[in-house]
Amino acid sequence: MGKLCEPACRQDVVAAAFASTTMRKVVEPAWVGRCARCAASPVPVEAVTTVVSRTFTGYDCWKAPAEGGLCAACAWAYRHPDLRRRMHVVTTRPAMRAVTAADLRRILLRPLEPDTAVVVPLRPGRKHILPHARWGSVAVEDTSLPWTGRDVAAAAAMRRLRALGFGARMLAEPAAPYPVLAQVAPRRWPAVFADWDRLAPYRRIGQWWELVLRATVAASARAAK
Ligand SMILES: [Zn+2]
Repeated sequence: MGKLCEPACRQDVVAAAFASTTMRKVVEPAWVGRCARCAASPVPVEAVTTVVSRTFTGYDCWKAPAEGGLCAACAWAYRHPDLRRRMHVVTTRPAMRAVTAADLRRILLRPLEPDTAVVVPLRPGRKHILPHARWGSVAVEDTSLPWTGRDVAAAAAMRRLRALGFGARMLAEPAAPYPVLAQVAPRRWPAVFADWDRLAPYRRIGQWWELVLRATVAASARAAK
């Protein structure tokens, strides 16, 4: 979890998202103080206990967890249900927009710019995701995954393998299953093996794997036709 908690050197993703939206519930701030999550001070805050439930466990990424209040932006990030259900792209302009599965596939074809953060609920509604989103990364339930050229190359490998007919469960195996390999022209086997190996480090990163399975589903659906 440590990687999630690095001090932000630039604007907070939550602050950028909040600044760009009009979806606000007006809540009377309780007092002026320091925000427990983003450490903004002095700002109007409301009690943490009115925003997150008693079973909330995400405090380890808060910058000032001993404080008792949350600023308007941070309270909104935990409270607005749409942020847990739908995929969003946030930029430093600031801007935020909901995106579709097709948009996600397109976005992940390139490394993410350092002024962009993507929020992807893999299990919609279950967890707060925006609060741990980081620039240049894809935030999923429990982590924020940097999206670099290596990730793009690995996702392209998965897309090619799916297009050849390797299913989602097969891709998790350490070697290409023979029944599908046998359907592929032998001259293409070296490329298949290279793609299979390119995915090796990622098979252990469960949420990366789940994200990329989702982002490469179109290629396999087309191949199945
Ligand atoms: Zn805050």
